[in-house]
Amino acid sequence: MGVPHFLVIPYPVQGHVNPLMQFSEALTKHGCKITFVNTEFNHKRAKNSVGGLDNLKEEGMRFVTIPDGLDPEDDRIFVSIKTNMPAFLPKLVQDINALDADNNITCIVATMHMCWALQVAQKLGIKAAFLWTASAASLAALYFIPKLIEDGIIDSEGVQTKKQEIQLSPNMPVMDAEDLPWGGFANKFFPHIVKEMKNLEFGEWWLCNSTSDLEPGAVSISPKFLPIGPLMESDSNKSSFWEEDTTCLTWLDQQPPESVVYVSFGSIAILEPNQFKELALGLDLLKRPFLWVVRPSNDNDKVNKAYPDEFHGSKGKIVNWAPQKKILNHPAIACFISHCGWNSTLEGVCSGTPFLCLPFFSDQFLNRLYICDVWKVGLKFDKDENGLVLKEEIRKKVEQVLENGDIKARSLKLQELLVDKSVKNSESSKNLEKFINWAK
Ligand code: UDP
Repeated sequence: MGVPHFLVIPYPVQGHVNPLMQFSEALTKHGCKITFVNTEFNHKRAKNSVGGLDNLKEEGMRFVTIPDGLDPEDDRIFVSIKTNMPAFLPKLVQDINALDADNNITCIVATMHMCWALQVAQKLGIKAAFLWTASAASLAALYFIPKLIEDGIIDSEGVQTKKQEIQLSPNMPVMDAEDLPWGGFANKFFPHIVKEMKNLEFGEWWLCNSTSDLEPGAVSISPKFLPIGPLMESDSNKSSFWEEDTTCLTWLDQQPPESVVYVSFGSIAILEPNQFKELALGLDLLKRPFLWVVRPSNDNDKVNKAYPDEFHGSKGKIVNWAPQKKILNHPAIACFISHCGWNSTLEGVCSGTPFLCLPFFSDQFLNRLYICDVWKVGLKFDKDENGLVLKEEIRKKVEQVLENGDIKARSLKLQELLVDKSVKNSESSKNLEKFINWAK
């Protein structure tokens, strides 16, 4: 029998492509073969960045594309992608199998919003698994949607019925119902999430980028949950959609140990102009250097105009896109002002960096709960009556988090636990082997 051959297909955003790439790298280390499917649109973007996707070819991974059926200027949200892409997949699988007669595709792995691919797998008689790229706790929340509706905690549109605290399962933390991961988007996206949960059933395993050390109650909600994280295969973002500005590493080399505040809000979140101003002025108030990622986006003009006139930025460095994992593991980094996306959360905890949390949407509030109240490795920002985190609050919280020896000690302890566990014989390594054996 040949080695397992996985066709992997991420929802085309950075926060899905990165962990699926890490997962694919882990599988290739076990001798598996990977066909990584990008949309044509994203393949062009990734090829332009450092270490473009094609570079991995010789490592048992190849890259193929299918169109998303959209024009370059179209809004690439999942509704349209889901409409257009499914038609292209069966032919792609047939073409690959015809080319690779000795090593046909044995399993399809898809991320959220792409689970139509798991249905395609079933029709073609191929095994199928789902990779959840956020926390196991947020998958647990989705899993319990029918129960949350039945218990009257949310209505059929996902809107919480009243302000209340809930506990999804006995070993999970108590949370505010408003921090459920579809919060903020309830009416708009909730029906799609409910529909997608039905497609998830086509996946034999729900692979979670987590461990029971991080989320003890959440990873055991269902026997389908298979924790295989944290996926930290390499510190290069071979799948980056933006060119990484590596000059910040040289700049970091010149800063004192544990002095720099790193600020990044991932690949999607956009700060409101007033919040952007407060953050800029807050960073100026710090008596220490900062490294701030201000992503180029379609909103570039709006963002650039938002730098207030009083902003000096003399102690800081601003980049469009950073090699984040390398940054977080640099000895000059003191703390991480983060939007709490799950990948950033894992990268932060695996580097032992204390957090300051500024969540925007979806699972980010639940991740903040784990960071601040469960692992206790970070602090929240308080907002004013207009929902803004003011510059003084930013200055105050940065000082507080850095003066708090307990937070740093817990961050290092958690890092040690996770990094040690990433070696062979850990729960996640065993689960990965179990998964590969199943796919054979
Ligand atoms: N990232 C990066 N450089 C940056 C900012 C972010 O490489 O300047 C990476 C980060 O390391 C993470 C991903 O982009 O792997 C963001 O994923 P996350 O889940 O944190 O947030 P999302 O972008 O999905 O909101």
